Amino acid sequence: MRWALVGASTIAAEHMLGALRGAGQEVAVVQSTTATRAGEFARAHGIPAFGTDLDLILSDRGIGAVYISSTNEKHHDQALAAIAAGKHVLCEKPLALAVDQAAEMVAAAKAKGVTFATNHHLRCSGSHRTVRDLIAGGRIGRVLSLRLFHAVHLPDHLRGWRIDNAAAGGGVIPDITVHDADVARFLLGEDPVSVVAQMTASGMGQGVEDSVMSVWTMPSGAMVMAHESFTHPCAGSGLEVHGTEGSIFAAGVMTQQPVGEVALVTAKGRDLIPYPAHDLYGQAVQDFLAAVAGQGRPAADGPDGVASLAVALAVRQAARTGARQTVN
Ligand code: NDP
Repeated sequence: MRWALVGASTIAAEHMLGALRGAGQEVAVVQSTTATRAGEFARAHGIPAFGTDLDLILSDRGIGAVYISSTNEKHHDQALAAIAAGKHVLCEKPLALAVDQAAEMVAAAKAKGVTFATNHHLRCSGSHRTVRDLIAGGRIGRVLSLRLFHAVHLPDHLRGWRIDNAAAGGGVIPDITVHDADVARFLLGEDPVSVVAQMTASGMGQGVEDSVMSVWTMPSGAMVMAHESFTHPCAGSGLEVHGTEGSIFAAGVMTQQPVGEVALVTAKGRDLIPYPAHDLYGQAVQDFLAAVAGQGRPAADGPDGVASLAVALAVRQAARTGARQTVN
């Protein structure tokens, strides 16, 4: 397919362009809100066309799909425009700033009959898929708890709107908690019914939170604990799933790279579990293309993106109010 990139972004430059091209896709045009940035991005990445007028780009019937990686407040309108133009849409997380907006995007795609996906890359990793399979295969028994460690150090070049622009969807909760919500949904096959949380600005956030801790109540009774931050240079990332018959320790796996270690600990001892080390974003594109071809579903579809946003926004509301927040 021929693709349009909506947003001259870092994630497009660092991961998605390569993933699309690696899957044999043609990136035909990039759209940005400023012509200079669009032009610079197109030249730097060998994209033949660029522009600022999204409707004009979408009017090209030769464009089959759109990848949206603009700032978060733009995703909703851009996705609706792309869907209305009959394009398949791979949209960055968070899908929108409000759950009803995200649901509207998903409903529009369904009505139009186009594929709509959320770019939750972590469920594309071999490590997360292996952890999910271990749980589903009963290797740790009944799940008692999940601990998500996702406190990172935001690199210099990403310290823009994320840390100081609430209107653009800044803050660690829409940035990282939304991913962790999808990890829990992917691994456990359920979403929290309610959450409690605390958040703070611990050195980077200006008007938005840069750190948050939350505890989620799951329908099964399992407990989930999540920690996300922009300000932790040496914390390392990972997840632990503890069950009645064993525990899974996945260290260093909350990342964009196919790295980290998955260990299964049971009464028999500790085993390192091998997993496929494919590119996460390449897998996301492959799954998306299969869905477009009617063979399967995207790695994370529209309802997945709505669900992860609902959890993230509930966490923020719980942290704001100090009260338990129902997820809806
Ligand atoms: P960037 O800040 O790199 O880009 C986002 C937008 O900011 C661009 O589309 C562009 O807007 C604008 N922009 C870019 N450079 C400049 C500049 N120098 N001055 C002013 N504006 C600029 O964001 P990211 O790539 O980090 O994130 C984009 C989206 O992707 C977000 O929704 C984020 O949540 C998501 N993301 C997802 C990841 C994943 O693994 N799934 C990882 C990282 C990000 P425009 O082109 O419209 O002018």
